[in-house]
Amino acid sequence: MDTDGPVWTFDADGEISEGRGDDARKWTYRGGLATLGERLREASDATVRTGTEVEGLAREGDQWRVETEAGATAADALVLTPPAPTTAYLLDRADWDDALCDDLVDAAARVPYRTLLSVALHYPERTDLPYYALVNPDKDHDLGWVSREECKPGHVPGDESLLIVQPSPEWSRHHYDDADDEIAVAAADRAAELLDDPDRYQFDWADVVRWRDALPDSGADRVTLDRGADAGLFFAGDWVVGEGRIHAALRSGLETGERVAETR
Ligand SMILES: Cc1cc2nc3c(=O)[nH]c(=O)nc-3n(C[C@H](O)[C@H](O)[C@H](O)COP(=O)(O)OP(=O)(O)OC[C@H]3O[C@@H](n4cnc5c(N)ncnc54)[C@H](O)[C@@H]3O)c2cc1C
Repeated sequence: MDTDGPVWTFDADGEISEGRGDDARKWTYRGGLATLGERLREASDATVRTGTEVEGLAREGDQWRVETEAGATAADALVLTPPAPTTAYLLDRADWDDALCDDLVDAAARVPYRTLLSVALHYPERTDLPYYALVNPDKDHDLGWVSREECKPGHVPGDESLLIVQPSPEWSRHHYDDADDEIAVAAADRAAELLDDPDRYQFDWADVVRWRDALPDSGADRVTLDRGADAGLFFAGDWVVGEGRIHAALRSGLETGERVAETR
């Protein structure tokens, strides 16, 4: 479904302006974006082991060994999809004595990332506003994004309201280790000032999520990554294409799937 309402902007002084009216479509699912992964899994014949952390990788002849808490699995090809810093970490520790490994670690480790805090603030009542969200395109305000989850059909019950407040990357980095309640109060204060709405100071519950490696600021060296195919190693994700958006990650995954099929 599409999200109702446009995205407007605000500047360093919290001055709100109407957007250019050229927003891309803001698709979601009634049950949340995780539905996309579930649908893809249902459409494939893949076996997916959720909640299984890959702890180690080793190259054995022309096979890979993938180590998890539950034991080791052999694979003739691997697609690494964690964020670039985790991918670099896994390869750096891999039992694989090859100059290509160092090049791949370097390519993944060089991808710069933004840190973000995301704060959900719940209120018993919603307000009618002409926009779905406000964004600070100049990145010179303590807040980068404020959106109204109730504009996504089916996401917020009754007349309740849920603000999603994302402080700027700089503010997020400085306050990353603050307590959840301090972060929530600071986010609510700034949201109330920005929206010029005193009712927004007092939320009735909050949820804070920390994303240390939230969004890649540019892509990886694709020529180097592509050399991994010689060793049955492939990469997919937003950092591979350098765009921190779900559609970019999805496209990267589909393209990598095609490459695996072509080269194996
Ligand atoms: C706060 C926030 C809001 C965003 N909002 C939007 C939005 O509105 N629209 C949009 O298009 N994009 C948005 N994005 C960006 C979008 O979420 C990402 O671009 C997208 O999720 C990237 O997909 P991915 O598959 O590359 O990586 P991820 O979604 O990060 O998936 C990587 C997966 O690898 C797993 N993993 C990591 N290490 C291991 C390991 N050792 N073993 C096994 N598994 C491992 C992780 O658990 C995770 O499931 C947002 C991002 C953030 C942080």
